[in-house]
Amino acid sequence: MSDVAFVNGTVILPDQLIEAGQLSCQDGKIVHAGRSRRLPNSVTRIDAQGGFISPGYIDLHVHGGDGADFMDGTASAVATVCRAHARHGTTTIFPTSTTGSTEQINAFLSTCSEIKSQHRPGRPRIAGVHLYGPYFAENKVGCHSKEGRRNPTPVEYTTYFDSKIIKIATCAAELPGAVEFYRMAKRKRCLVTCGHSNSSWDEMAAAFKAGMRHVDHFWCAMSSVPSLRQRFGVPMRGSMAEFVLMQPEMSTEVIADGHHLAPELLEFAYRMKGPERLCLVTDCNRALDMPPGDYRFGCHDEGSQFTSDGKVGWAPDGNLASSVVGMDHMVKHMAKVTSASLPEVIRMASLTPARRTGIDKQVGSLEKGKQADVLVLNKRLDVKRVFIGGVEFHSNQADS
Ligand SMILES: [Zn+2]
Ligand SMILES: [Zn+2]
Repeated sequence: MSDVAFVNGTVILPDQLIEAGQLSCQDGKIVHAGRSRRLPNSVTRIDAQGGFISPGYIDLHVHGGDGADFMDGTASAVATVCRAHARHGTTTIFPTSTTGSTEQINAFLSTCSEIKSQHRPGRPRIAGVHLYGPYFAENKVGCHSKEGRRNPTPVEYTTYFDSKIIKIATCAAELPGAVEFYRMAKRKRCLVTCGHSNSSWDEMAAAFKAGMRHVDHFWCAMSSVPSLRQRFGVPMRGSMAEFVLMQPEMSTEVIADGHHLAPELLEFAYRMKGPERLCLVTDCNRALDMPPGDYRFGCHDEGSQFTSDGKVGWAPDGNLASSVVGMDHMVKHMAKVTSASLPEVIRMASLTPARRTGIDKQVGSLEKGKQADVLVLNKRLDVKRVFIGGVEFHSNQADS
């Protein structure tokens, strides 16, 4: 692998911008990120053309793209989704399960393991998977198939964790057996998260004690003071939202596509949690880069139906059914509508998710020693070129 240097662009570091900076890479790893230095002639120069040199994005919560869903059960579907998101700047991805049968979850785990093991420079990285469905609360299943929802049982999830590929694990905190699930997920060194849940303050406190540290898509499919009033009556009680906002160790994520959350909620989440506890996720489904129309969320033959209007997904009941855009869109939207600085916005799409999942020694920022996962962005933050492990990613390459 030859040495490469990214030049003629603003380098985005975790806490600052370096104008007219330089990023040098050797054997797929970063050796210098900062001010320009003299380069030997043998180094291949990548001209950022006055744009930005950014770390590759990391997506903790993503279901599909380009017509495929991680739950489709084939390795080619997994590879298709990874490639689709790499075009939008995601260099490290955590394939995310939906609700489904044990057979479907097992197929999800084995096909993701297969593609992960085939990783080479220039191809998107699977850092692990997000076991998301099936352990949702019955009344918070959202756009997922209801038949595929169930309570956690050790006999089922122990085999999932034994696959060793799960790095993020979700369960609704009010389900019987949730605490045991969280304890095992913590032992397996996962980011432990609560989502699709109507849990109370006390249930969140018990979950926190068992290792839960993150809540999926803030404000979506989670409890609120009014939802708990319906569940328990008065006095009104603290919900998942207040728990996340008050507990400094808790992180969360937002779907910043402009359709799920209004600008004031994105600003609120950023100001309340800060860029080290707030992640940008796409929660994107298979309709990414596909024409408007009807699709299935989750497995291609049994998943629940939704409609994409080309901007966002809609469930038949009129609720949102996750996003249809990539991380490039989330970054641009967050930068446009909130007061977060550009390094902070990029951090929420790279270093923060890397730290929360324990992969920040390898990826997540442009720092010496890390993998050369690098994006060239233009001034409008459009993704122009994508490098993974120092090798350029080409979306049309066969068998990647
Ligand atoms: Zn969800
Ligand atoms: Zn989701």
